[in-house]
Amino acid sequence: MQTGHVFRAWGRILQGYAPALSIEITRECPLRCPGCYAYEPNHLGGEVTLRQLSDFRGDELVERVLRLVEELRPLHVSLVGGDPLVRYRELERIVPLLVSRGIHVQVVTSAFRPLPASWRRLPRLTVVVSIDGLEEEHNRRRAPATYERILKNIEDSRITVHCTITRQMASRAGSLEQFLRFWSDRPQIRRVWFSVFTPQRGAEAAERLTPGERKQVVEELLRLRPLFPKLDMAPSALRQFLTPPSSPDACIFAKTTRTVSADLSTPVTPCQLGGDPDCSECGCVAAMGLAAVGAYKVGGMISAGALFHLSHRIGGLVASRRKQRQPREEFIQIGAAAPAGTAGARPGA
Ligand code: SF4
Ligand code: SF4
Repeated sequence: MQTGHVFRAWGRILQGYAPALSIEITRECPLRCPGCYAYEPNHLGGEVTLRQLSDFRGDELVERVLRLVEELRPLHVSLVGGDPLVRYRELERIVPLLVSRGIHVQVVTSAFRPLPASWRRLPRLTVVVSIDGLEEEHNRRRAPATYERILKNIEDSRITVHCTITRQMASRAGSLEQFLRFWSDRPQIRRVWFSVFTPQRGAEAAERLTPGERKQVVEELLRLRPLFPKLDMAPSALRQFLTPPSSPDACIFAKTTRTVSADLSTPVTPCQLGGDPDCSECGCVAAMGLAAVGAYKVGGMISAGALFHLSHRIGGLVASRRKQRQPREEFIQIGAAAPAGTAGARPGA
């Protein structure tokens, strides 16, 4: 992360905005991956599931996404799903428009269909392809987005590989090294990220790692890092997997990322995972990266995390004062515009 980005994000936090926005841009996905958090019954709190939510397409989706981005003013937008490539025609319009406004965009997909060739030339765009384990296991979990199909669909692209480590993968000796060797050797791969499966609280899941397996995974990734330069995870971030944030309130990622679901209004809380995630077993790569930044001591004294939490509280006060002022400002604008006939002079009118 560059220093300029940190200061811009800090400015947004102090103004009461979340610097990152994640949008579940469609409720649809052609895959049925076991352990997928988006389709868990409690992902949106339990009242409604992602598949039951209304979503948008065509011009309406493009316009509504742009309006949401204008309102929330993020610096970084993640487009997730379902699988965002279900709406590839709309994405081919939305993504260039967002990057042209200086926004960093991330599209997270299974690559079940070809990635638009024009995306290769776009700045500020990261395409993340989820590949879960070695070929046999991945194909079993993620068909029809098999290894063969991914390789064909990314042929002309530059992507980031993201792998969620499950118990099945962790318990197979040498699997992380084999995975890194297979993907690192390909010119289409810019970098590789790993997450660890994050369970919901109280839920039984075959993907859940034991504490011993988690420790072994961290040690193995620390060993592999110098051997595979495309493994783009700092040692400080890898070590955070052993001491994840204790709660959503302590999680910088959860507090800096606003997530909305496919109707573009239902919030996903407490973080992108939704439902009731077990923070004590969190394995989210983004949460660990930001936790590592938070642990950094500024001037050798105060932690960046303490500064962040203070700034977040200040931003919360600023945002609530802005909300209180809004109806009055609208009243003043309407009152000023009507008698003087100066509506055309008002910004945004
Ligand atoms: S591709 Fe992603 S959204 Fe679709 S089922 Fe798999 S994990 Fe869930
Ligand atoms: S599950 Fe992970 S990302 Fe979500 S709030 Fe907890 S620590 Fe943060």
